[in-house]
Amino acid sequence: MKIRIGQGIDFHRLEKGLDLWLGGINVPSDKGCIAHSDGDVLLHAVCDSLLGAAGLRDIGYYFPDNDPTLKGIDSKIILEKTYALVKEKGFRVENIDCTLCLEKPKIAPFVPEMKNIISGILKTDIENISVKATTTEKLGFTGREEGVIALAVALLMSE
Ligand SMILES: [Zn+2]
Repeated sequence: MKIRIGQGIDFHRLEKGLDLWLGGINVPSDKGCIAHSDGDVLLHAVCDSLLGAAGLRDIGYYFPDNDPTLKGIDSKIILEKTYALVKEKGFRVENIDCTLCLEKPKIAPFVPEMKNIISGILKTDIENISVKATTTEKLGFTGREEGVIALAVALLMSE
C-alpha cells in the first residue's frame, strides 16, 4: 500500500459586492473573492493538495482561468473532477486538514456544513475532514481585508 501526502495553497483578492464562497457555502459577507470561477479559495487549496499528493499537476493546469467554459464554475464541480483524476491514479483520500486565513466574517458557524460538503464530494467520513480558521491579527493583506488565504494538506492511500 502506498501513502502520499500533498499540500495546497490558494489566494484570492476580495472585492465589495461579490459573493463569498468558502468550502462550498455562500458565506454572508460584504466582500467576495475575485476569480474566474466562484472563487472558493478553500476548495481550490483542497484540490491542489489532492493533486499534489497524487503526483499530478496544479489546479490551474486542469482548470485554466482563461477557459470560457469554466467562467463562474461552482468549485464543488472542480473538486469532484479533481478527485476523479486522483481516483484514476488509484488513490483515495484518507484525511484532509485545511486552514482559512481571513479577518472576517467568523467562519466557525459554517465549519460543520463545509466539512459535510467536502466529505460528501470526496465520499469519505466527515471525521476525515478538518476545517480550521484564523485571522492574521490584522497583519498584511488578509488583515486589511484585501484578500483570503487557504491552506490544505491531504493524505492519500492507494486502493
Ligand atoms: Zn483559487
